[in-house]
Amino acid sequence: MSIDFEFDREHLWHPYTSMHSPLPVYGVRAAEGCELVLDDGRRLIDGTSSWWACVHGYGHPALLEAISRQSQQLSHVMFGGITHESAVELARTLIAMTSPSLTKVFLADSGSIAVEVAIKMAIQYWQGRGQPQKQKILTVLGGYHGDTFAAMSVCDPEQGMHGMFGETVTKQFFASAPPPGFERLLAEDDLQSLEQQLLDHGTHIAAVIIEPIMQGAGGMRFYSPAFLKALRELCDRYRVLLILDEIATGFGRTGKLFAYEHAGIEADLLCLGKALSGGYISLAATLCSDEVASGISDSPAGVFMHGPTFMANPLACAAARASMALINENHWPQQVAAIEAQLNRELVPARALPQVADVRVLGAVGVIEMKGAVDVALAQQAFVELGVWVRPFGRLLYLMPPYVISPTQLTRLTSAMLEVAAMAGIC
Ligand code: PLP
Repeated sequence: MSIDFEFDREHLWHPYTSMHSPLPVYGVRAAEGCELVLDDGRRLIDGTSSWWACVHGYGHPALLEAISRQSQQLSHVMFGGITHESAVELARTLIAMTSPSLTKVFLADSGSIAVEVAIKMAIQYWQGRGQPQKQKILTVLGGYHGDTFAAMSVCDPEQGMHGMFGETVTKQFFASAPPPGFERLLAEDDLQSLEQQLLDHGTHIAAVIIEPIMQGAGGMRFYSPAFLKALRELCDRYRVLLILDEIATGFGRTGKLFAYEHAGIEADLLCLGKALSGGYISLAATLCSDEVASGISDSPAGVFMHGPTFMANPLACAAARASMALINENHWPQQVAAIEAQLNRELVPARALPQVADVRVLGAVGVIEMKGAVDVALAQQAFVELGVWVRPFGRLLYLMPPYVISPTQLTRLTSAMLEVAAMAGIC
């Protein structure tokens, strides 16, 4: 049966689209390796890992086998009063992979919820430590942490993604964005705005939340490890928790297993998602330290007040265990290093194009920033005609391919990027 595009257009919401004038959608009937197979049989090389999640590619036998085996045993069971092997072993693996201070794991169903959970944990922690006035979260401009209400409250209010929700979004504190440039040394005034907010409002701030090293959906901007290290020191000095949102950066994307490793720091709370399940089933996790968990237990509620229906879904946990087993086979460091080298060779020439403002590469992330907003429909169509799947946003054309992409496939992607960046009328 083929896809009913008319019904889709009339009745089905897609992310960030209008029902009046929806952008064209492309029907996908299958996906294999690093390719999407369109309804009409055309094959597109995937430059996005399906919003950065499918790092092992599609149809990976280990993931399919894990999900299938789990489905025959236990597809779902409530997590209240019940546990199961997949959740326990996944938690054990995540604790072993992340920094030593993170010992407690909350398994939720999407990245946004992992952020909600982290924020709620931080607030409950301070209630347990006798500082119930610490209810606010401090973050930096340019960030993105998800689309639910608490997550929206720590997204950049200037960028217009969530501004229309007005007063229903809690007002948080914002400091200047980290200065761009991965290799950049820290300047005296780089952290001034953050420190000023902590000085002015620290007694009401429960935590700082930040995407380590790379601000993703807020603009694909890289910033220096020195900034992150200094931020950790500020959090300690002003007694606020540090929440690191590694939903986009986790599991190797920036060239380290976790982006915080670039700075040699540890989080009090860590949010994971996307590549956690290899992108096969929605799953996210929030990890916290013993100290945070014990503060929550000492709070008036005595328990952590969150428990979604699909918490620790066994199918998702089985997929995540398989995904983590692949990550722990440790091929990703060579794969990501090879992707980074090739992106540097093949994307950087785009700097010479008149419409291009900047080209930057870190790990398996390659970004061409245009001088103006990209015409998404036009760019999308051009990419599809060139046989690749790249999803521009704002002024950005970017690649975050699966780690298993071949050099030939990656060259197809980078050539398409250069070709589209040079097109007349693209921005
Ligand atoms: N945090 C970061 C850094 C993200 O990049 C995203 C999604 O792009 C989220 C949170 C939200 O995750 P989800 O879309 O799974 O809710």
